[in-house]
Amino acid sequence: MPRTTATLTPSPVPRGADRDRRRATAGVVLRSVLEHGPVARSTIARLTGLSPASVTDYCARFTRLGLVREAEPPRPKGVGRPHVPLDLDDSRFVVGGLHVAVPYTTVALLDLRGRVVRQRELRHEHTDPRWVLPRAAKALAGMLAERRDARPLGVGVAAGGWVDRDSGVVVEHGLLDWRDVPVREVLEAHTGLPVHVDGHARALVNGERLFGRARGSGSVLHLFAGNVVDAAFATHDEVHHGPRSQAGAIAHLPVPGGSEPCACGRTGCLQAELSERTLCRRARAAGVTDGHNPRHVLAAADAGDPVAAALLLERSRATGRAAGLLADVLNPETVVVTEIGAMHRTDCLAALREAVGTERAAHVFPTSFPDSVLAVAGGSVVLDVLYRDPLGASPEAN
Ligand SMILES: [Zn+2]
Repeated sequence: MPRTTATLTPSPVPRGADRDRRRATAGVVLRSVLEHGPVARSTIARLTGLSPASVTDYCARFTRLGLVREAEPPRPKGVGRPHVPLDLDDSRFVVGGLHVAVPYTTVALLDLRGRVVRQRELRHEHTDPRWVLPRAAKALAGMLAERRDARPLGVGVAAGGWVDRDSGVVVEHGLLDWRDVPVREVLEAHTGLPVHVDGHARALVNGERLFGRARGSGSVLHLFAGNVVDAAFATHDEVHHGPRSQAGAIAHLPVPGGSEPCACGRTGCLQAELSERTLCRRARAAGVTDGHNPRHVLAAADAGDPVAAALLLERSRATGRAAGLLADVLNPETVVVTEIGAMHRTDCLAALREAVGTERAAHVFPTSFPDSVLAVAGGSVVLDVLYRDPLGASPEAN
């Protein structure tokens, strides 16, 4: 991509522990502007426990970088200089968000508030990464060319299966038939931008923490039920990855009474039972649709087909049971579920909540991003990096 200005290059800040602490504090201040803006510096100091001088210093840096701007001051009530509140400047930068699903790749641009400003789905004619990844990079370049007013800060990539965040590698994704695919390396070469990669369940926990319903929640469990089924858990802003990012692999948990054969050779694995493929196959067998798209099952249910509605209800209930088991282990404050029925139908959401358990039902929510969940997953991977370390991950001042 012919862009020379972009970057997540480190700024000159002190080395070692002091540097890490300052970077983390910078993240806390920028998050505070994101969550409360327009907000006075004195309010940020009160909310974060930092000194007013320190907040003023960080905000001055963010203003120079173009991440923050002064908002319209409130009309002064009396004499004296009004406090000029600060707000996130969401006009100057964008990030790329890629999500690789089984049937298609989603390519998107998002602003710093995690809002999707452009989005495209690229169908997979086949899933060879040497074809999928360069094509996605090309689509992203096209979107960036249409938004020359905004500079790209980086690209986030989310996928299901086993994704190692540290190395930027999709270690194993059975349904795509990907093994040890160096996604970060390939996409950095094709885009010329910094690329960050993570599993989509974890990426969406970060999306919910930063931009969605889990803001301010002490702990969050996210269950993603698409074609791939996996989970992620965060406490106090930290998403658990575990060694080589293997946490949350629940695809082959046995479901009591499950009857679906799984690619692993067993029967009744969670992913085989809940997969959208299974939903579509059951819908075809029942004469509801003749295709492979779960949205068609949803459309049939919405048009009044009772068989389609029952299939969706059954899947939401099974998803709720799985979420309930995980919640019993992890005891999260908030449970977020990405599942097509619960996202779009109130009867499915009610069934899912009931299956999680009446005690937790009030703390169970569908994804905050029903119309753009995959784009937000990709974008959240890189926006999480920005909000953790805005001085390390933002553009050099110019
Ligand atoms: Zn299995």
